[in-house]
Amino acid sequence: QAKSDGRNLYHFYMPEMNAKARHRLMLEQALRVAVEDDGFFLHYQPQVDIGTGRVVGYEALLRWDHDRIGSIAPSTFVPMLEETGLIIPMGQWVFSTGCRQRHAWNSMLPEQCSLSVNLSPRQFADKNLVPQIQRVLEANQLPPYQLEIELTESMLMSNTEHTRNLLRSLKDLGLKLSVDDFGTGYSSLAYLKQFALDALKIDKQFIDHLTTSSKDKAIARSIIQLGHNLGMQVIAEGVETADQVETLQQLGCDVVQGFYFGRPVPAGEVGRIPQAVAVGAQ
Ligand code: C2E
Ligand code: MG
Ligand code: MG
Ligand code: MG
Repeated sequence: QAKSDGRNLYHFYMPEMNAKARHRLMLEQALRVAVEDDGFFLHYQPQVDIGTGRVVGYEALLRWDHDRIGSIAPSTFVPMLEETGLIIPMGQWVFSTGCRQRHAWNSMLPEQCSLSVNLSPRQFADKNLVPQIQRVLEANQLPPYQLEIELTESMLMSNTEHTRNLLRSLKDLGLKLSVDDFGTGYSSLAYLKQFALDALKIDKQFIDHLTTSSKDKAIARSIIQLGHNLGMQVIAEGVETADQVETLQQLGCDVVQGFYFGRPVPAGEVGRIPQAVAVGAQ
């Protein structure tokens, strides 16, 4: 099994391997054990409609705390899951855990409040993705509009038959589709006319200096106009200050996500998040 394979990796440690390579091998081995032993959990971060101040969704974010190594950032382990192919079982786990949790929150959250799940390229290429999502929705009695899938520009760029069929099937299922980290991938906009997408997520890098850089502000304004002109919602990521919220309101942004309104928290703490916040005068 994966676990014993993982342990055997110790035998491949070579004295000449540099510290970085050894660390990586150790992490990869720990990752295999964690995948097998249910060593992951999810945090949930609120997404707030800045017109109404209501929480309209939660993004599920994968977390890994290792006994000895400590907590490891998704920016480190998600690419490793992707490279090893372990993202397929883990991605499945994220869908089922997230959807089960969303169902458990039925009495607490408004019906329209969605759960967003990040998809990785390997999952996107997986033929079983659509039937698996369908099964997860059924098993948890989740209406499809409560599940939002976050795609990246690179997935949407390849205008292959597979991409077209997959996006059509996800749409036909009734899911919401959003483009994550918008503006950081490829510059092609052709995919925006090809596919029925529901939302653009402005990447944090354009939000960080929103209130001090006229260029970042111009980019944010343009993304919001582009999204609206195409009938999409626009979500700003990584919003940390009241000034950023105010600017985004002025620019007509729909939804914000970021530490300002709430950090990602364990499922048990979501009940403590106020379901509506003051968003100030528009
Ligand atoms: P992402 O999907 O763009 O998620 C947003 C990231 O920004 C999260 O980082 C979140 O914790 C962080 N963030 C949110 N608001 C703020 C803020 O105000 N300030 C700052 N500094 N950061 C903020 P996280 O959780 O470390 O995840 C990083 C990336 O890892 C995610 O970026 C996503 O691409 C990937 N990821 C996380 N969970 C999953 C998963 O279940 N599956 C896949 N395929 N990828 C995942
Ligand atoms: Mg995301
Ligand atoms: Mg993002
Ligand atoms: Mg990001």
